[in-house]
Amino acid sequence: MNNQPTILAIDQGTTSTRAILFSMELEILAVQQKELKLYYPRKGWVEQNPETIWQDTLEVCHAILEHTANRAEAVAAIGITNQRETTILWDRSTGKPVYPAIVWQDRRTDIVCERLRAQGFESMVTARTGLLFDPYFSATKIAWILDNVAGARARAVRGELAFGTIDCYLLWHLTGGRVHATDVTNAARTLLFNIVEQQWDTDLLALFGIPAAILPEVHDNAAGFGMTDSALFGREILVGGMAGDQHAALIGQRCFRPGMVKSTYGTGCFALMNIGPDFRLSQHRLLTTPAYRLNGEMIYAVEGSIFVAGAAIQWLRDGLGFFQDAAASETLARSVLDSNEVYFVPAFTGLGAPYWRSDVRGMISGLSRDTTRAHIVRAALEAQGYQTLDLMAAIEEDGGYQAEVIRVDGGLVTNGFMCQFLADMLNRPVEVPKVTEATALGAAILAGLAVGLFASLEATEHYWRRDIIYTPAMTEAERKRLYIGWKAAIQSLLHPSRNAVEPAASDSRQ
Ligand code: ADP
Repeated sequence: MNNQPTILAIDQGTTSTRAILFSMELEILAVQQKELKLYYPRKGWVEQNPETIWQDTLEVCHAILEHTANRAEAVAAIGITNQRETTILWDRSTGKPVYPAIVWQDRRTDIVCERLRAQGFESMVTARTGLLFDPYFSATKIAWILDNVAGARARAVRGELAFGTIDCYLLWHLTGGRVHATDVTNAARTLLFNIVEQQWDTDLLALFGIPAAILPEVHDNAAGFGMTDSALFGREILVGGMAGDQHAALIGQRCFRPGMVKSTYGTGCFALMNIGPDFRLSQHRLLTTPAYRLNGEMIYAVEGSIFVAGAAIQWLRDGLGFFQDAAASETLARSVLDSNEVYFVPAFTGLGAPYWRSDVRGMISGLSRDTTRAHIVRAALEAQGYQTLDLMAAIEEDGGYQAEVIRVDGGLVTNGFMCQFLADMLNRPVEVPKVTEATALGAAILAGLAVGLFASLEATEHYWRRDIIYTPAMTEAERKRLYIGWKAAIQSLLHPSRNAVEPAASDSRQ
């Protein structure tokens, strides 16, 4: 390895903590990873240990610096990307968390959200934050800690406690407790940050009962967040980049122009469309969120999510024992000519956008005596295409742009059958980049920008390399026929009393 500057990306996810070293050409030089445990102390509660998160982060960073010939002096900057919304409150003098991290998946504040919605506050909150009332976001989690940990509220008011999402908590530790700051994309997931005025919103703080004294400063995504404590890596390194995971992936996929879309297929699927500098409210209960802010200039995105993507494949593997390795799903799907009229709606936890029905559950329809395992597996992979088409229709209406291509990443995109079907259903090319670690890459790009390794975001487009492009190869008639079948399956799930084989008039929406 030569002496060219490198960039260290910290990717703190829900199930693992990773450090990835990138070259100036944004190629991966080294990866270190530690699995992270989730705790389920009660039904609907999901927690993690913040101190483990910090120790794991330190460990993977040290391992990167030690296990490569690269010394800390070659690392020009650090970028952080993270699981979003997960909430930590800690003591400013000791750094000790006052309660475990409440993870984004935690539903303990469901009732609070329902009550606030019933009181009619949602439209005001949505107009300011781009979000919906949901326990997913940080505000009600913060309030829960303040109300349930003895003395926490009084200490918070006195300024003794700090709140942060994972990015902010890691920055605080990396800087030896000197810097309490976050970035706009992470701040925007709290329900407390006004993304139009771009500041913490006093009305929202009052609504959720959150004292302003606990809040971090909010910076652009590429900024001088702070220098690492020299005791950690032998010298100070600038933390120069920060963004929530989906926003970082949008950057990693170089979706810098309005109308560009990235879609990440992991356990679930998150699609974001860059919509440019103007804030727009969704008409389909999607989220409006900062894509990124650089030099004070905000670029917005519309975000839609599918709850179950790769998790359906996991379920076929672990729940039904259909195969041992997720990759076998491709061979099985290709072993049959079609799904034999089988549709698999993986609504294990309800249906998200554009249906929003938390009460329904999954369904496999069209089973006959000649249905095989292969047909069901194929239907599960095809469901990714149908679900994405449903979501894209909503995103394009809300965003006001048509996406010319879709850039994909995440574990599922190694499945060529899935990607081809996606291209066929969307009737648009689907591009898989060479570096599919889009999230870490985005953090590295931001950090590189902060130290002038790249002149601009656009300057990094040059390094984006396509690995595979899937172009649509299905006839229009076939596409329509298949999609009408999917919509009929959805309708029979949403309205079980109706005749399931007759799609409603609106079902031909393409
Ligand atoms: P996450 O970041 O959410 O943990 P990943 O991006 O690592 O998820 O993707 C893992 C998911 O991708 C798993 O749900 C797994 O079932 C699925 N997956 C991985 N490889 C394949 C494949 N070749 N075909 C289908 N699904 C796959």
